[in-house]
Amino acid sequence: MRRTKILATVGPASAAPAVLDRMVALGVDAFRINFSHGTDNEHRATLRSLRAAGERSGREIALVADLQGPKIRMGEMAGGSVTLSEGQRWVLDTSGLPGTTDRASVTVDHLGTSVRIGDRLLLGDGSVELAVRKVGLSQIATVVGSGGTVSSHAGVFLPGARLRAEILGEKDLVDLAIAVDAGVDWVALSFVRAASDVRALRTLLARSGRAQVGIIAKIERAEALARREEIVEAADAIMVARGDLGIEVPLERLALEQKRLVGAANAAQKPAIVATQMLLSMVAAPRPTRTEATDVANAVLDGADTVMLSEESATGRYPLESVAWLDRICRSTEAGVATGEFQIARPSVLPPSSDRSVADAAVRLAIDVHAEAIVTPSSSGRTARLVAASRPSAPILALCAGVETRRRLALTWGVEALPCPANMTLEAMRGFAQNLVAHRPGRRRGGRIVLTAGYPLEGTPTNLVTVLSTSPSRGSARPRATRGAARG
Ligand code: PEP
Repeated sequence: MRRTKILATVGPASAAPAVLDRMVALGVDAFRINFSHGTDNEHRATLRSLRAAGERSGREIALVADLQGPKIRMGEMAGGSVTLSEGQRWVLDTSGLPGTTDRASVTVDHLGTSVRIGDRLLLGDGSVELAVRKVGLSQIATVVGSGGTVSSHAGVFLPGARLRAEILGEKDLVDLAIAVDAGVDWVALSFVRAASDVRALRTLLARSGRAQVGIIAKIERAEALARREEIVEAADAIMVARGDLGIEVPLERLALEQKRLVGAANAAQKPAIVATQMLLSMVAAPRPTRTEATDVANAVLDGADTVMLSEESATGRYPLESVAWLDRICRSTEAGVATGEFQIARPSVLPPSSDRSVADAAVRLAIDVHAEAIVTPSSSGRTARLVAASRPSAPILALCAGVETRRRLALTWGVEALPCPANMTLEAMRGFAQNLVAHRPGRRRGGRIVLTAGYPLEGTPTNLVTVLSTSPSRGSARPRATRGAARG
C-alpha cells in the first residue's frame, strides 16, 4: 500500500469519465480543479463529473477547489505579446488598453498603493524584471532590468511587496459558492499572506453552512514564509505551491523553503502537499527525467503527505502515465525509509496534550507488538491524523461514519478511511476492528491490532488505546457498515 497520497489536477486532458476512472484505478486519491481557468458552467460540470468518478470507484476520492485569489495579471498585449529590452522605460496602468512597448495594462486597480519606488516586479515565469521608478495612483513607471517577451495575461509578481488586495475577490466569491454547492471537501486558498486570510475564508465557509470543508493554505508569497507557523496553525493543510513561490523567492532557495514548510506542517500534525512541476517533462513525454524522479522521491523523504500533478494531468499528453509514475516513485521511496521510531523522535511544536500522547502511545505499542494495523475510529478524523503524524509502518485504518470525514482524510499520509456505523459502543468498536482486519486481503494470521480512539466517539479527544488479537470472534461475519449505510 502506498502511504503518500496523490492529488491530480483535472483539465482538458483528463476530464473525460473514462480517463478519470483510469486515474483513480492507477491510484489518484484526490482531484483538484483550478478555478483560474474555465467558465462557471465548466466548473460545475467538472465537479459533478469528478464526484461521479469517485462514486463509481467505490473509494473515498476528495475534491479540492483551488481558488485563483489575488493574482495580478497583465492585460491584453497588441499582437499577443510585447518584447522589452533591458534599460527601456515601461509604464503599467489600469486603462485596459492593449499593451505596447511604451505601456501596458494590469488587472488590478490598487497597484499604486501596493508598490514602492525601488520594488522589483517579475512577469510571466519570472524572467522579465521591472524596477519601479515612480508611483502614481493609477499608473507606475518602471525600467526594464531584464528584458524578454511578455504575453497577454502573463502573471505579475511583486516579490516581498505587501499586496493590498482582499484575499478573496469577486470572482473568488462566485467560485467559492460553486465549489460549496458542489460539495467539495477542500478549498485551496491562493496567495495566503497571514493567518487572518485563512480565518476570512473559514468565516465564509461557516456562513454558508459548510464549516467542515477543509482549508488548504497555498504558500506562494514571500511574506507567507515568515508567518508559516501561524498560517499552518490556522489552516487544515498547506500546499507548497512551487510555481508562484519559485518566482517570489530566489529559485536557489526553493528546496530549503519546501523542507521548512513541510517540516512546519509535520510538526503541527497537518497535511503538507508538495505541488507543481513534479513531472513537468511528462506534459510531452511518457517518462519523467532523472531529476523529476528524484524531486518526487525527495518530497516523500521531506515528509509530504501528498504530491500533486498540475499541467501533467490537466493539459499534458500523458495524464495516466504521470499518475502511474508518481505511484511508482512514491512506493519505491517509501519502501526504503524506516518508519516508526524515526518519526516519533521528531520534535513537535505543539504544546503537550493528552490526545497526542495517547496517539504516540498507540504508535509505540504498534511497533512493540508488530501490529498488523492501527485502527482509529474517529468522527472528525483527528485521531487518524495524530497517528499518521508519527508515520507508523503499520497501516492506519480510520473508521469514520461520516463520508465527508473519510474524504477529507484522502490527503493525509498513510490513512485508509473506511465506513463504520455511527455511535459504536467500545465492544462494537473492538468487534468491528477485529472483523475488519481479519477479512483484509493478504493479512498475517495471529497478529495484533492496536485500537485507539476518543471514546465515546462524538468529539471526545483521543483517550483510549488497547491491543486486540486479530482472530475474529466466533461466527463473526464481514464488517456490516456498507458505504451507503454509513453515509453521514
Ligand atoms: C503554484 O503556484 O504552484 C500553484 C499550485 O498554484 P497555481 O497552479 O494556481 O498557479
